[in-house]
Amino acid sequence: MKNIDLLKNLNSKQKEIVSENRKNLLILAGAGSGKTLVLIRRIAWLIYKENCSPKSILAVTFTNKAAKELKTRITSLLINNFQKNNIWIGTFHSFAYYLLRKHYLNVGLTKNFQIIDSYDQKIIIKRILKKLSLKDKIFSIENILKYINNIKNNILNNHFYKNNLYNINLSKIYDEYQSFCKITEVIDFNELIFYLYKLFLNNPKILKIYQKRFQNILIDEFQDTNDIQYKFISLLYNKHYNTKIVLVGDDDQSIYGWRGAKINNINRFLQEFDKVKMILLEQNYRSTSNILEVANKLISYNNNRLKKKLWTNADNGDLITIYYALNEFDEAEYIAKYIKQKILKKNIKLNNYAILYRNNSQSRILEEILLKFSIPYKIYGGIQFFERQEIKNILSYLRLISNYNDDSSFERIINIPKRGIGNTTLNYIKYIANKYSLTLWKSSFFLLKNKNFLNKTSFYALKKFITLITFLKNNIKHQSLSKIIKQTIKFSGLWDMYNKNCLFEKDNTKINNLKEFINAAKYFTKKKLQYKTKLNNLKIKDVNLLTDFLSQTLLLNENINKNNEKKNNYIQLMTIHASKGLEFSEVFIVGMEEGIFPNKISFDEKSINEERRLAYVGITRAKKKLTLTYTKKRFLYGKEINSIQSRFINELPQNCIKNISYIQNISVLPKKNYLFIKKKYFIGQMVYHKNFGQGIILKIEILKKNEKLQIKFDNTIIKWIMSNYIQSSI
Ligand code: ATP
Ligand code: MG
Repeated sequence: MKNIDLLKNLNSKQKEIVSENRKNLLILAGAGSGKTLVLIRRIAWLIYKENCSPKSILAVTFTNKAAKELKTRITSLLINNFQKNNIWIGTFHSFAYYLLRKHYLNVGLTKNFQIIDSYDQKIIIKRILKKLSLKDKIFSIENILKYINNIKNNILNNHFYKNNLYNINLSKIYDEYQSFCKITEVIDFNELIFYLYKLFLNNPKILKIYQKRFQNILIDEFQDTNDIQYKFISLLYNKHYNTKIVLVGDDDQSIYGWRGAKINNINRFLQEFDKVKMILLEQNYRSTSNILEVANKLISYNNNRLKKKLWTNADNGDLITIYYALNEFDEAEYIAKYIKQKILKKNIKLNNYAILYRNNSQSRILEEILLKFSIPYKIYGGIQFFERQEIKNILSYLRLISNYNDDSSFERIINIPKRGIGNTTLNYIKYIANKYSLTLWKSSFFLLKNKNFLNKTSFYALKKFITLITFLKNNIKHQSLSKIIKQTIKFSGLWDMYNKNCLFEKDNTKINNLKEFINAAKYFTKKKLQYKTKLNNLKIKDVNLLTDFLSQTLLLNENINKNNEKKNNYIQLMTIHASKGLEFSEVFIVGMEEGIFPNKISFDEKSINEERRLAYVGITRAKKKLTLTYTKKRFLYGKEINSIQSRFINELPQNCIKNISYIQNISVLPKKNYLFIKKKYFIGQMVYHKNFGQGIILKIEILKKNEKLQIKFDNTIIKWIMSNYIQSSI
């Protein structure tokens, strides 16, 4: 055994967890109490002391970054390559992906199935609405997307709510959506786990293979499992093979309720699994006592908590800074200047610092200001890179080459760059596709069979496009992945198109992004070749690099930034959701304003509680220092609005706080009108008006006895209305 003491520096409860005999364990504890640390040591303990095969271990967590961290930390405790290569560590989604690539036939998928994200889902929904002649004003695409995802996450049953015309139509849309995905050989991100569950449920022989293999299942951040994930774990668990499960979680950090996560799974586990031993951890080792006090106070405003204690031995540390900024630029500059003065000047490494925000879109101005101050940064999580237009375009080419039946890709790039195929031709292709249940690719062939179907220009333009895609497809056979991508960028005309923009607009971001994309492919190939020699049991035969890469772009988007990582000196930017499980010396949380955090769609009590847990997650990422910022004014919904300080700031203990204002040297908390407004209305609140229907508050003017509200109604009309005419808030 490697000469390491797996119980070193642990407190007695932590030791108990690591060295307990193999049994079902539930570890419940607050942030920073060492849950992940004991999980890692426990895995090493199982291998070294309980003689479990590394192959028997399945360790699952929720984000790619957390999984990567888990992998690095476990690997450092292991001694040989067999151990390192045979443990299975990853996210639920990546586990599902690997198994589905291997067993696609058993769940009715095709070899080249692709994963689609919400952008593609929306394109498909639009097309279905058109086909069914339903108006997208009545059936909002967002609502349909939510409906579809809720079914995939097992929150809804498609055939349950057929009680009125609206619901009957929703159900029809869902059925259309499903058959569309089947024909075009795609599955959506949420469906990965659904399919995995189906794979195990309907194929007992396959299930048995994995039940036999994974006798030790360990799950971090268990509070965020949803119903389908819970069911999947239940299926994999088999007493007769002596499976043991270790679950680690914190009810106060459950932040995926909107995706169907159920805190109640913790209770279910206690009731439904054999002899579960529960152990609580109460000491926080991560944060200063000021940070912990602030976090504990904030979360105490939530109800229905499992009452856990969390204390620390650490010093008080710095006070929490709350910066009141003039606007979002001033907010970003405050942080940038702070970093310049306090960190860069002292040559302290930047990567221990993080800026967190509620919504991805908040990163844009931060990026702009950080660039202006020449501060290196890196954005984590989300799929921002792959959301960029130029990346979406090249991805669509590659997807179509890989699978002719991928209709959303076909539709996206048929006229990018412009090649004379207008909407009329596209609509005709779609019409034929709908009429004869063909994919757009096949429908095009149909139209090209007879010269009379299309006018001459369209005919040749379409023919050229089909020839191009066929040529690119034939071209991929003996090429490396990066070469395939380079040539596709070139022959498709994308390179010329963006290069031209680059000359005229003096902006080469798009070209740089395409280059970065080629880098990602190179990195992926390297990793994949290493991976091929790994994981006997899960080895993927006949690896199709392109197909794999396309799916991985969604699963492992962080590869893209790998090159930057070598420098290892950048400030980290991410959403609070993506920061779960991580820790940093200093943390800045920006946009602490009503309507942003808590988010504008979260004004009922249940959602506010979830937002508060999210704030708790953000705050508890900080080890030494925490700064929260909010603004006086901000540009939102295309207009400058007066911001209102987040209620969460109000809930923090004043003795732990230092207030700084944008008005130089004035260190007072601006008396906000929050308490008054608290009983009334918030910017971002959904309200209802008898004549105009549902709407969202954009602006508030406080009058002597009343409030005047600017409301954007669902039919896009914007009106000023006195609050006493608002019927009820939703
Ligand atoms: P989160 O809920 O945020 O995921 P966690 O409970 O998983 O937090 P860890 O990340 O495992 O907590 O640990 C938090 C920090 O405390 C880490 O830096 C870890 O190394 C440190 N730590 C944990 N236990 C001890 C200990 N007994 N002595 C010293 N440091 C410890
Ligand atoms: Mg953790």
